Amino acid sequence: MKIAIYPGSFDPVTKGHLDILKSGTELFDKVIIAVAKNSEKTGFLTVDERVMLIKQSVAGMQNVEVDSFNGLTIDYAKQKGAQILLRGLRAVSDFEYEMQLSQTNSALAKDLKTVFLITKPEYNFISSGTIKEIFLNNGDISKFVPEPVNEYLHKRKLKY
Ligand code: ADP
Repeated sequence: MKIAIYPGSFDPVTKGHLDILKSGTELFDKVIIAVAKNSEKTGFLTVDERVMLIKQSVAGMQNVEVDSFNGLTIDYAKQKGAQILLRGLRAVSDFEYEMQLSQTNSALAKDLKTVFLITKPEYNFISSGTIKEIFLNNGDISKFVPEPVNEYLHKRKLKY
């Protein structure tokens, strides 16, 4: 059974992430999309909020599990019995960082392979960072994020 981990910050999950995830489910028996808790980035949403929004956004998708983890991705992958790390590539600018990460992970866990996928062109330019910026400046993010994310962010904004 081929199990892949799709790790990331997903702060928040976007249509770009979901496109990569969907392609992953066509390639592997199971894909675990997992929010990394030890990300250096300061969070916009809490880890629990991100997990909840991913769960709502993947409802109906086959062979997907949603989770979060502490510590190294390689240790989490081992614990889950996964052989593959799934990552997305947008532009050349992602490449250097992703290559370094992938080679570090291979050096630490030689049986773990990273598979890179590229999204559909219409999702390629989307990043969680840009979405936060558009949203916080009252722009329309509905084209870039799944509906549960759009709804939740608007409700959350009203609360504060
Ligand atoms: P990280 O903080 O680990 O970079 P992200 O949540 O930003 O986590 O992204 C997780 C993965 O998804 C990364 O491999 C990133 O390159 C990829 N990704 C993010 N947005 C897109 C997109 N629009 N198209 C393709 N891949 C994407």
